[in-house]
Amino acid sequence: MALRKILLHPDPRLKKKCEPVTDIDDATRALMHDMLETMYAAPGIGLAAPQIGVMKRILVMDIVKEDDGEPQPYMMANPEVISTSDEMSTYEEGCLSIPEEFADVQRPAEVRVRYVDADGETKELDCVGLLATCVQHEIDHLNGKLFID
Ligand code: ZN
Repeated sequence: MALRKILLHPDPRLKKKCEPVTDIDDATRALMHDMLETMYAAPGIGLAAPQIGVMKRILVMDIVKEDDGEPQPYMMANPEVISTSDEMSTYEEGCLSIPEEFADVQRPAEVRVRYVDADGETKELDCVGLLATCVQHEIDHLNGKLFID
């Protein structure tokens, strides 16, 4: 595993739409693990592939803080929001690619996400609270959108 360099805004790669992952092979899994390691080292709770210059639809997340218990990493390929709550919630968001900038962002409070995991299996995950905010923030990255946009 290796730490990757996190690109900073206004790198143009952060504004591009990423390509779907066609198969989950060893290279994809290695990339996912590199992304997790890079995210933990930053430290952050989410990281999308374009943030390390890889233009593929991959993200990783772990919202469990180090002191709060066991890590709960998620590695997702081709994630998509398939349903959202009407209820909205607002979080102050930050981003590893935009250090020291924070903004209140309103998003659906709950989302259901379909994705392909590191074993190539399609899964669905109901996300609420911080996890919902985080997954929507990271999926935005895959579409070239930043929280300051
Ligand atoms: Zn971000």
